[in-house]
Amino acid sequence: MEITVARKRLEEMRDDLDRTIAVLQGEAPGPLAGSGYPQDSADAGSVLSEADRTEAILDSARSQREGVLAALARIESDSYGRCVDCGQQIPEGRLEARPDAARCVSCQAKHAKRR
Ligand SMILES: [Zn+2]
Repeated sequence: MEITVARKRLEEMRDDLDRTIAVLQGEAPGPLAGSGYPQDSADAGSVLSEADRTEAILDSARSQREGVLAALARIESDSYGRCVDCGQQIPEGRLEARPDAARCVSCQAKHAKRR
């Protein structure tokens, strides 16, 4: 993939994620927001799980955004397309599918297992 194409796609991903995060942050009731404990415990449960869901989506959007920013930084430092762990070229098809991929498939699998 052309580096200019990769950069453009990454910038679009970053902008999308920025919008998603801004919207979610607007919706998310901050921790301990409002005037104390809700009256109805059943309602409190559903409010909490809703906030948890929003928080989970926010978390994943934020970590995706970090990955995209890191990929843009790799473009700047001329190391884009190489695995950050083993330094091997990441296959073209993988970069097409995931322009923000930081690792080759086998390093990604090892990385995922370590978590
Ligand atoms: Zn690797």
